[in-house]
Amino acid sequence: MTDGAVLKSFIDGQWMDSSSGGRIEVDDPSTGEVIALVAEADVSDIDLAVTAAQRVFRERTLVDMHPYDRGRLLFRIADALELRADQIATTVCMDTGKAIDVAREEVGTAVRYVRYYAGLADKLEGRSIPRGANIVDYTVRSPFGVSAQIVPWNFPLELTARSLACAIATGNSVVVKSPDLAPLSGIEVARACEAAGLPAGAVNILTGYGHKAGQALIEHPDVRHIVFTGSMATGRTVLKTAAERIIPCIMELGGKSAGIVYADADIDCVIDAVRSGSFLNAGQNCNAFSRLLVDKRIADEVLERVKSCVQGLSVGPGRDNCDITPLISKRQQDGVEHACHTAVSQGARLVTGGSALRDRSGYFMAGTLFSDVEPSSHLFQTETFGPVLAVTTFDDPLMAVELANGTEQGLAAGVFTKDLDLALWTAERHWAGQVYVNGWFVGGVETPFGGVKQSGYGREKGQEALDGYVQTRNVGIKIAQPASNWAEGGKVRRDRA
Ligand code: NAD
Repeated sequence: MTDGAVLKSFIDGQWMDSSSGGRIEVDDPSTGEVIALVAEADVSDIDLAVTAAQRVFRERTLVDMHPYDRGRLLFRIADALELRADQIATTVCMDTGKAIDVAREEVGTAVRYVRYYAGLADKLEGRSIPRGANIVDYTVRSPFGVSAQIVPWNFPLELTARSLACAIATGNSVVVKSPDLAPLSGIEVARACEAAGLPAGAVNILTGYGHKAGQALIEHPDVRHIVFTGSMATGRTVLKTAAERIIPCIMELGGKSAGIVYADADIDCVIDAVRSGSFLNAGQNCNAFSRLLVDKRIADEVLERVKSCVQGLSVGPGRDNCDITPLISKRQQDGVEHACHTAVSQGARLVTGGSALRDRSGYFMAGTLFSDVEPSSHLFQTETFGPVLAVTTFDDPLMAVELANGTEQGLAAGVFTKDLDLALWTAERHWAGQVYVNGWFVGGVETPFGGVKQSGYGREKGQEALDGYVQTRNVGIKIAQPASNWAEGGKVRRDRA
């Protein structure tokens, strides 16, 4: 329970209360109990934060710093996070409801992102373009200015860390709008920035509601860059605002990722992938394994195995490291249950689960498996963001790929087979930003991640992410040949190479 203390926003190197006095109650999704009170940032708080970030950019505090020193700042942030890793993991577990081991992994991943981009800060280079003897020409890769970063609630610590690290490595300054449903990670990152001695205003982290603080942030005239991670619906709203002022955006949106299971697949491997890909963090993962496409010839066997896997998963609080932890909120719980009812009404066969667990406090949902899911149905087409797996059968590889690609999303995809040729053929045709073979979540900190189609554009993670945080500028210099001193008879003596 909260002791009544209000957790403040981190603005211009200071901890500041909300200018309106607004509060956000943070609850533990396992119990529904209020665990913290956070200052609710309003429009004037956002203005203070962007003004501070813009000052840092205008004064060239980070831009003129040796990139190695920007890297050192980031290394110190990573060290500060690592120093408090246990406490932060406990906070993340209570704030998001996820299993404590998953929370520990999230802290470790956040630390790795920050160190990864710290190490790359002094390796981002321009190029020199040959244009003949009388012109020197080169490119520089410059920051945009104030980067507005909008974070969702499912992995708030690592998502805040990865975007912020890219921005600082490249000399941008940052204003983060943390999610109102899970704001405590943002506060932990702010504490780490303070401990690392970042210049005041270089990173500002506030919590507020999307329609108010989030909208004020992306509309602010001094914002020059937006990193949005969230749903496709909100992404569209953000892009409309960004279009007005022609602000470049990195859009990391939702998915409806399909795994194709061919007849020769190792079923144990498929079950492992389902356990983590579909049910980790209660399925609240943008790249969740949410559609399982299986060869008709092995469909009964696979369905039976998946069913006993799902029925064997424990459902309970994150602190007990249960397999299926709560959803983030009652609203999310109601939405996932509603999606299950719609699936039944559209002809899908409910194999197990399908309901919220209302016999206990918290926002739990039974692990759910549907078969006979039609490609035109809501469940096949729309992100559920809950512990729900949809199974559909196929006749041959062409049909499998057509089904996999038959949605508007394209974030991740998978293929399960022992046939290397078939795996590569399928990986090439899966129209998704990241493809996993014989596993799920096979990507890492170092591998580029992002969507195709309506799952977004731009890349986070890996070296490619840095490209989204800089704009290439070109400098052309006219030069004259220094002929006078060296000339013999009016002509420059040519070096003998
Ligand atoms: P959401 O779209 O509801 O909210 C995301 C963020 O946007 C929140 O901080 C919210 O407050 C803010 N927001 C809402 N309206 C806004 C506005 N008008 N202007 C500015 N900001 C606004 O998403 P969510 O429910 O928090 O997160 C779940 C979604 O995020 C899922 O669709 C999931 O797939 C996606 N996601 C994508 C990735 C990725 O890397 N592609 C990673 C994690 C989550």
